[in-house]
Amino acid sequence: MTDPSRDLLSLLPDQLEALLLSVGEPKYRASQLFPQLHRGLSPDEMTNIGKATREKLASAAEYHLPAVRRKLISALDGTVKYLFELRDGNCVESVVMKYNHGNTICISSQVGCRMGCKFCASTIGGKVRDLIPGELIGQVIAAQKDTGERISNIVMMGIGEPLDNYDNVIQFLKLVAHPDGLNIGYRHISLSTCGVVPNILRLAGQDFPITLSISLHASDDVTRSSIMPVNKRWGVDELLNACKAYYDKTNRRISFEYTLISGKNDTAAAATQLANVLNRHLRSRTSTMPIHVNLIPVNEVTETGFKRASDENIAAFARILEAHGIRATVRRRLGSDINASCGQLRRAEGLKNEET
Ligand code: SAH
Repeated sequence: MTDPSRDLLSLLPDQLEALLLSVGEPKYRASQLFPQLHRGLSPDEMTNIGKATREKLASAAEYHLPAVRRKLISALDGTVKYLFELRDGNCVESVVMKYNHGNTICISSQVGCRMGCKFCASTIGGKVRDLIPGELIGQVIAAQKDTGERISNIVMMGIGEPLDNYDNVIQFLKLVAHPDGLNIGYRHISLSTCGVVPNILRLAGQDFPITLSISLHASDDVTRSSIMPVNKRWGVDELLNACKAYYDKTNRRISFEYTLISGKNDTAAAATQLANVLNRHLRSRTSTMPIHVNLIPVNEVTETGFKRASDENIAAFARILEAHGIRATVRRRLGSDINASCGQLRRAEGLKNEET
């Protein structure tokens, strides 16, 4: 795998300067390279970079943009799903969704995932490897180049667990928010985690006003551990305490993802329990932390056998949360005709390859 220190898209301007100096080039070239790299141009395509410089760069570093291996466009809502091929032939998925407030991309953070959530297609084959910063931002750059439209929001909710790839994700956040590059503000970025508690606390220590999203899916340890193995390591209490610490430090609203699975976590009793647990942990007389629960009808993945909760149960669940002072929304499904949910396209492609 490419060492990120040799990967042009993984480097911040001051790191590019150091690289240029190391090959005898003036450091001001970093201010020529960085913005163009982030617009999707390779050094060979840059008219203000001479041949000698290009050759020196090529000796010290590599340039790779994820290649579009497959692209599906939803006839229903214009959602675009990419299967991107990385330099070593591995594939990840990204999805571009069009909203009134702009285009949002959902990106992957790892090839596969080792978290083992029982309902999730991305984890079925385990983790293959982490993505490096240039491959994280490369998904945004390649999608923007391909669609020809500006991407204004990023959600890290694709394949992989971002907080299991911490250092690369932090570098990615710095790159993507850089004013000379894509300049996507932290407030327009959400990071979703299954609950890697030590790294939630580390993230709180960074000064990034991103939105943290917690994949909760159950509010008691027995149910949560049965669908999310990570809960055996860091239980519900520990996770919610980390959320409280994150909020106290950053003052940023946290959103909770709750996938409704028929017969597993979708009853009225589960809704009441969820509301009570959230209120008990996160709110006190002195704290009015805004809590938002995003209800997601589970996407039925053939291998998992889980079934979607009924519309009545979903509506009742939302009503109970609201009655306890917790804002609840039901996730709108975009791209339902193109299998836009994470992990499914990469998996389908992999299975096809295995057959041939
Ligand atoms: N690893 C991170 C981000 C990737 S998953 C995390 O766990 O948050 C993004 C979201 O999709 C998570 O909330 C995850 O639990 C949810 N998800 C995964 N498989 C799903 C499925 N089959 N149906 C509905 N949501 C699913």
